[in-house]
Amino acid sequence: MGALELKNITKSFGATDVIKGVDLTVKDGEFCVFVGPSGCGKSTLLRIIAGLEDASAGDILLDGKRVNELAPAKRELAMVFQSYALYPHLTVRDNMGLALKQAGVSKAETRAATDRAAEMLSLGPLMERRPAELSGGQRQRVAIGRAIVRRPKLFLFDEPLSNLDAALRVATRIEIARLHRELSATMIYVTHDQVEAMTLADRIVVLRGGVVEQVGAPMELYNDPANTFVAGFIGSPQ
Ligand code: ADP
Ligand code: MG
Repeated sequence: MGALELKNITKSFGATDVIKGVDLTVKDGEFCVFVGPSGCGKSTLLRIIAGLEDASAGDILLDGKRVNELAPAKRELAMVFQSYALYPHLTVRDNMGLALKQAGVSKAETRAATDRAAEMLSLGPLMERRPAELSGGQRQRVAIGRAIVRRPKLFLFDEPLSNLDAALRVATRIEIARLHRELSATMIYVTHDQVEAMTLADRIVVLRGGVVEQVGAPMELYNDPANTFVAGFIGSPQ
């Protein structure tokens, strides 16, 4: 049993099959990176895991429990998007605490949880600001903080760094790696950046056209790619 199991997941939009029978087990505490060209189905797969999209067929198991019909908020996971998706009218603190408030958690507990997340991400001085008063990097840290606050077992990241400049990308990547260690959570991370994939991943899942081409540790894929597609993807800059 893994933290996440996908069993023969397929997804069609109309007549177009975008996910074609994906089987995958992600182990508890693992850092698993999905890579593949634009349009190969990475975001769709994450959204299916999160419950934001229904699979056309197949099963999704979290900690051994089938969650196909479970609402997104009931799944013990949090998703961090490329676009941050912060509420502009709420302060950083309220953005981070909103999900807890909606879940009926007390004010005192919510404050303690947001303070803890703020400390982990050095967001303390920004807590009373609104998103418009933050830089892109700070907004992304808030989006990560909002995910941490709920203490999920599973984090889903969809290209979280692609709107950041190169220096911030490196700094935030290191921060995500540190959080992975400190929270001992399971993380699934979508990127098309090989450096991110090679440095963050315990295992990389290479997708092409809705199909898993290969799964393995970074150096396994690098040294022993299953085919020229994987070799090209892992070996050369995109
Ligand atoms: P990736 O994240 O790997 O770039 P996506 O998962 O976003 O790929 O998209 C996979 C394919 O599914 C693309 O061809 C995309 O156009 C299509 N697709 C995604 N969402 C929808 C949707 N809501 N309706 C129709 N087609 C979609
Ligand atoms: Mg995508």
